[in-house]
Amino acid sequence: MQLTDSIQYVKGVGPKKTAELKRLGLHTVYDLLTYFPRTYEDQSVLTKIADLQAGETATVGGTITNVSERQGGRRGMTILTALIGDGTGILQVTWFNQKYLKNKLKVGRKVFATGKAAYAYGGRGQFAMSQLHSFEILDEEAEPASRTGIVPVYPATEKLNQKFFRKVIVGLFEEELAIHDLIPQRVMRAYGLLTRQQALQDMHFPADFTALQAARKHLAFEELYLIQCGLLLLKRQARENSKGIRHLLSSELVAKVRGALPFRLTDDQARTWQEIQRDMESPLPMRRLVQGDVGSGKTVIAMLALVKTVENGYQGALMAPTEILASQHYEGFLRQLEPLGIRIGFLSGRLTKKKREEMYARIVAQEVDIVIGTHALIQEGVSFAKLGLVVTDEQHRFGIAQRAELEKKGHLLPDVLVMTATPIPRTMTLTVYGDLDVSLIQQLPPGRQPIRTFVRKPDRRELIYDYVHQQLAAGRQAYVVCPLIEMNEESDLPSAEEVYDELRYGIFRDMPCGLVHGKMKAADKEQVMQDFYEDKIKLLVSTTVIEVGVNVPNASIMVVEHAERFGLAQLHQLRGRIGRGQYKSYCILVSEMKTENARERLKIMAETSDGFKLAEEDLRLRGPGQFFGSMQHGLPDLKVADVLGDMDILLKARQAAQETVASREERQDILPILALQYKEQFENITDI
Ligand code: ADP
Ligand code: MG
Repeated sequence: MQLTDSIQYVKGVGPKKTAELKRLGLHTVYDLLTYFPRTYEDQSVLTKIADLQAGETATVGGTITNVSERQGGRRGMTILTALIGDGTGILQVTWFNQKYLKNKLKVGRKVFATGKAAYAYGGRGQFAMSQLHSFEILDEEAEPASRTGIVPVYPATEKLNQKFFRKVIVGLFEEELAIHDLIPQRVMRAYGLLTRQQALQDMHFPADFTALQAARKHLAFEELYLIQCGLLLLKRQARENSKGIRHLLSSELVAKVRGALPFRLTDDQARTWQEIQRDMESPLPMRRLVQGDVGSGKTVIAMLALVKTVENGYQGALMAPTEILASQHYEGFLRQLEPLGIRIGFLSGRLTKKKREEMYARIVAQEVDIVIGTHALIQEGVSFAKLGLVVTDEQHRFGIAQRAELEKKGHLLPDVLVMTATPIPRTMTLTVYGDLDVSLIQQLPPGRQPIRTFVRKPDRRELIYDYVHQQLAAGRQAYVVCPLIEMNEESDLPSAEEVYDELRYGIFRDMPCGLVHGKMKAADKEQVMQDFYEDKIKLLVSTTVIEVGVNVPNASIMVVEHAERFGLAQLHQLRGRIGRGQYKSYCILVSEMKTENARERLKIMAETSDGFKLAEEDLRLRGPGQFFGSMQHGLPDLKVADVLGDMDILLKARQAAQETVASREERQDILPILALQYKEQFENITDI
C-alpha cells in the first residue's frame, strides 16, 4: 500500500467511513497515519476500584459479576449495565443503545475498563464510569494483571469512535507500508533521530512514555526542519535570483537628518541602524525585520533608511496598515524631510481617482522620493521609476504575499525592511519570519515615565472619569476605548457611540470631545485624529482604530471599557498610545471580571509592561490557534511542534536546515519533499 493511496483502500474503511473521514480532511493513507492522538491513556497501571477518585481517569481490571438490561429515557433507549468486581469494590458500567454487547458481557468474564470515575448511588466502594474511554473483554484464559499499555485517544467524532481509529491505525502498521525518511541520513545521524517508520508507530502506539517522547521529538524536529528548509530556501532564492541594490556608505543627507533629530538614538536603535546600513550597502537584497515594542522608536529608523536610499538616487516606499497611521507618518516626514529638499508623496484609497493618478505619474517620473501610504501602494498602476527600499510598518497586518507584491514593483530587487511592534516569542519569530533577519529594539527611549495600569470594576466609573477630568483640566489628553461601535440589541455592552454621548453630555460637557471608529468615512476620521493631534480635542472616544502607531505625546491617560474583550497583545498595543511624552501616564482597565480567565489576564496586564512576556501569556491563555491565526502569516500549521515549548528543538532544526541548504546534494533531496509536504507554501522553490 502507498501512502498516497486513497483512504478507502484501508482495511476496515468502507464507503460510509470514507465519507466521514473525508469530512475530517482525511483523504489518503498518509493523512490517517498523521492523524495523531489528542492524548494518551496510561492503562499500564491498574487502579483498584476502592482507590478510584471521582473525576479522575483510571483503568480498572476485574470480573463481570452482573449484567442487566432495561428500557429507559424518553425515546425508550436500551440501557445495559454491567457490574465489575475486583475484590476491593464494585464498578458500574453503563451503555446506551448498544444491544449487541449483551451477548458478549457474560458473568465471569475478565474485563478492563478505562474512564472517568464518578460516585454511584450505591454507597461506599461503588463507582460508576461516567465517561467510558475504552472497554475490553479478555479471552477466557488471559489474566488481568498481564496487561500493559499506553492507549492513544484520537480526536473522534460521533460516527468515528476511538475503537474505529485504533483498529484501523493498528491495521495500517500491519501492512507493508513504504514509509520513507524525509530527513537526510546525515541529519538523522547527527541529531540522533529515529526512523520515520518508528516515530510514526510510536506516536500512535508507544511502548512507554519514553518512546512516546522520542517519537514526538522526532516528528516535531521533522516538521520544524522542513519549514525551516522551506523558509531558508525561499530566502536563498530571493537573494541569488536577484540582483539587489548596493547602497553607498551613508553621507551628508543621512548625517543631516540624524543631526537634526531632537534626541540621540538609544543603543538598541543605533545597533539596529548599523545592521540596516550594512544590509543596504551589500549587493544582496536586504530582508530585515525590526522588532521593537510600542514606543521604542522604530519610525526614526525607518526614516533614516528611507533617506539613505534617496541619497543614493532611489525612491523609497513606506506602507502602513491604516489610513490614520499612514497620514501621521506622512506629516512627520513632511515636517522633517521636506526642508532638506526631499519630496514626499502620499497615496491612499481615499484620494480621488484624479489625485491618485497624478501621484502615479509623479512616482513613475521620479518626481517624488518617498511615498507613504496604505495598501493603495501595492495596487496595480503603481510603478516606481527606481525603487530602492520598501518599509512596511506593523507587518503582522500584511501577509507574506502582499510583501512579495510590493517587492516586485522594482526592477532590481529593492531592500525590504519590516517593522513590527507585535512582540512575538522567539520560536514564533523564527517560524513566522524565518526568511528574515531580525533586529531587536528592546530599550525604550530614556525619560519615559512608566505607565501605571489599574483594573477596576464598572461601579468605580464615576470616580475614574472624575480623575480623567482632573487630568484634562491640568492640560493632558485622554483616550477612552470601547469594544463596539454602535448600539447592538444582542449585546448589553456600551458602544463607543453611547459612551461618547454619556461623557460629552455628562461629566465632560465642558471639554471638547471626539469620536473615532472604523465605520466613519476616512476623511472624517482623519479630521478627528488631526484635531486630537492638535489638542483641539481633549477626550477621544474610540474603538481599536487607534491601536496601531498613533502618536500623541500629550495623551497620558487611557480608559478601556470592557477590557476583558481584548486580547493581551491588543491591550498592550492600545496602552502603548500613552506614556509617549514626559507625563506620568495611567491606564485604567474597566471590567466586571466575570470569568477566572478574564481576571487572570487583566491581572497580568496590570503587573507587566513587557510586551514579550505578555505575548507569551496571551499565547498560553488563548492558545496558538487564535494567536497564530490573527497574524495572517500564510505558513503551514504545526501538527506536532509546540510554538512555546519546543524552542530547543527549533534551534536544532534550524541549524540542521542551514546545513542542508548549504549542501547542494541535500538541497536537491529536500526540494521534492517540500513540494509534496507543503505544496501551497513552498512548491515554487527551484534549486539554483
Ligand atoms: P514605535 O516604535 O512604537 O513606532 P515611534 O517611532 O512612534 O515608536 O516613537 C515613539 C516616540 O519616541 C516618538 O515621539 C519619537 O519621536 C520618540 N523617540 C524615538 N526615538 C527616541 C530616542 N532615541 N530618544 C527620545 N525619544 C525618541
Ligand atoms: Mg510605529
